[in-house]
Amino acid sequence: MRSISIFGATGSIGENTVDLIARAPGAYRVVALTGGRNVARLAQQAIALRAELAVTAHDDCLPALREALAGTGIETAAGPQAIAEAAERPADWTMSAIVGAAGLVPSLRTVERGGTLALANKESLVCAGPLLMETARANAATILPVDSEHSAVFQALAGEPVSAVELVTITASGGAFRDWPMERLASATVAEASTHPNFAMGQRITIDSATMFNKAMEVIEAREFFGLDPAQIDVVIQREQIIHALVAFQDGAVMAHLGQPDMRHAIGYALHWPERAPLPVARLDLRKLTSLSFSVPDETRYPALRLARDVMAAGGLAGAAFNAAKESALDHFIAGRIGFMDMAGLVEQVLDRISRDCGLGNAPDSLEKVLQMDDLARQTADEIVRARAGQG
Ligand code: NAD
Ligand code: MG
Repeated sequence: MRSISIFGATGSIGENTVDLIARAPGAYRVVALTGGRNVARLAQQAIALRAELAVTAHDDCLPALREALAGTGIETAAGPQAIAEAAERPADWTMSAIVGAAGLVPSLRTVERGGTLALANKESLVCAGPLLMETARANAATILPVDSEHSAVFQALAGEPVSAVELVTITASGGAFRDWPMERLASATVAEASTHPNFAMGQRITIDSATMFNKAMEVIEAREFFGLDPAQIDVVIQREQIIHALVAFQDGAVMAHLGQPDMRHAIGYALHWPERAPLPVARLDLRKLTSLSFSVPDETRYPALRLARDVMAAGGLAGAAFNAAKESALDHFIAGRIGFMDMAGLVEQVLDRISRDCGLGNAPDSLEKVLQMDDLARQTADEIVRARAGQG
């Protein structure tokens, strides 16, 4: 029986993973499930899947988790250290679906023990791509992409060497404000930014879709995972999100991956890889498809895409700084301290300041270095926002 663990089980990707596992009773032994403050849901999942261990990220949630699981025999634990230890427990297949840089440690621990990592947490690759990939290589671990675009590229590439690739195009929805006039964007609210035209996802990635910080992260993710040159990665808006990615080869052939937008496809593909198994996703019916439209994203509307190229050119720890500054900018936007269009400006300021003061060029070859840069970028973002508020 295959053993599995799910990090971020109570989130959007986590729930979709739990859904697939629950449909195959008896097929999996569930080692660990982790969540945040929603301990009632975490406990439900742990009972339904007969998990051996349930971990909440928050120490103050442990009593409630213990109570909810009393008498079940399911172990409980809390805090980042307990999450790291849960990732050290052997499991054949591990889903990394925590949101943010907090997902890096479980991703790393999984590949350190040579496990198969289903990677939804793109932050792991943006912050520490070379470290994660090298650690996986050194321990003969397998990483399978779960981000839909990267799963699509992975599938389009099956059996083909990356050296035969000319261009990879990942698609974007354009996010909540794709049809808004530019002048309205500055006053966009958190609630308005938290709706997605095609996908139901966590709030943070939904807002990141409206700014296209999500796509900017995905460009970096594609570079790190597939080892592509930045010039080989393009972004196109595909409103219907039926085409998830296209791979153009040196001989002029283009392989596209099509399907209804449903994350259970990419999760299920990673779960059953290298085989394909039936999945409970809606089928694509071309007769019902009224249009398939493409447009080039405007970088004044989506400055995050330009920043992604700067980050790739800078290399080193720029990805860690970029991700942390972006997470911080998002926190400040959600808290109402900065406007929607200020997020990219803040990230750019953080990168400029750190690059000027101490440089971004050190290789992300240890977790400590990555976490230090993460800290510095968050502090720098906070200082800039505080200074601005002081002036205002
Ligand atoms: P979500 O917000 O719905 O869920 C996040 C999960 O992480 C929850 O279980 C939450 O409790 C947990 N969590 C949050 N902060 C934590 C912390 N500091 N420590 C430990 N656990 C913490 O997020 P999501 O939309 O499921 O996204 C998860 C990851 O997958 C992100 O990296 C995202 O970019 C990526 N992803 C998501 C989608 C999607 O469709 N939702 C698609 C592609 C990639
Ligand atoms: Mg994606």
